Amino acid sequence: MTARAFITGIGGQDGTYLAERLLADGLEVHALVLAADGHPAHCPEAVVLHRGDLADVDGTRRLLLEVAPSEVYNLAAISSVAQSWDEPDLTARVNGQAAVALMESARQVGGVRFVQASSAEIFGEPAESPQTEATAVRPVNPYGAAKAYAHLTAGVLRQRDEHVSSVVLYNHESPRRPARFVTRKITSTVAAIARGDADRLALGNLEARRDWGWAPDYVDAMVRAARAEVPGDYVVATGVAHSVRELVAAAFSAAGIDDWEPLVHQDPAFFRPADPTELVGDATRAREVLGWEPTVGFEEIVRRMVEADLTLPAG
Ligand code: GDP
Repeated sequence: MTARAFITGIGGQDGTYLAERLLADGLEVHALVLAADGHPAHCPEAVVLHRGDLADVDGTRRLLLEVAPSEVYNLAAISSVAQSWDEPDLTARVNGQAAVALMESARQVGGVRFVQASSAEIFGEPAESPQTEATAVRPVNPYGAAKAYAHLTAGVLRQRDEHVSSVVLYNHESPRRPARFVTRKITSTVAAIARGDADRLALGNLEARRDWGWAPDYVDAMVRAARAEVPGDYVVATGVAHSVRELVAAAFSAAGIDDWEPLVHQDPAFFRPADPTELVGDATRAREVLGWEPTVGFEEIVRRMVEADLTLPAG
């Protein structure tokens, strides 16, 4: 029988790249989709879609027992820090409790390799930089707190020999990133300016620094974590931080626009009440244990995103 994988969060950037990767590896790929969402963009036809809600713990458990996968990737989440402030209880249910329920469902299936998509947000405003797997987990928003609960429980379940890994993902981008994230907001607006469809780019904090990587590389880290002999926590990051300002400069440069300063304007509406000034990860463990390394650098990520946006139809 062909090995099966089960993905939650197939509608997101990572879910579609992961599905492509697992299909290429020869696995049969099953995925959970919310009934309201329809067939996700970029989702390969070969993926077997199951309608359901991760927060419906009993329904999801029945489904997992029926599919009986050998690899489970939990990517589904309330993905916005802003929404987590508006709906902290929903965030706790989906990002925290439902993740742990899925880990327990996987245990009931038996022999499953489980990968939890965690986030640099579990570190909050870290006292040390770069962060490692040993950095104190001290979230500063409901999103980070719920992700922290799932991350910590993964570690607890490993103590009774469950193959549950938690990958602590830093910002990772691609042309499939929605425009609510700053990278895609910048590349899509710069492309619109280059086409003459927009005249300026309004942003918040230009000095915030993030560790931006290439999404398919981060999916590769997830697959390596699932297939490693021993489960663990892994920081997945490039180790290099850039400012939002550098991102803007790289995007305009990729679009062939040199004199960009007058086109960018700072709008208080896009500043956040609490915003880590710098998040940068040290992926030494992922490199040493999983043989993982990022393959696409910052400038190239931005160039690929701008090029993709330049070829999109206007609108
Ligand atoms: P996050 O790190 O997961 O919150 O990813 P984002 O891409 O949403 O934000 C990255 C950084 O860009 C944060 O420090 C934001 O404060 C900063 N930023 C500056 N201007 C903007 C903006 O207009 N939109 C967004 N989304 N972020 C912005």
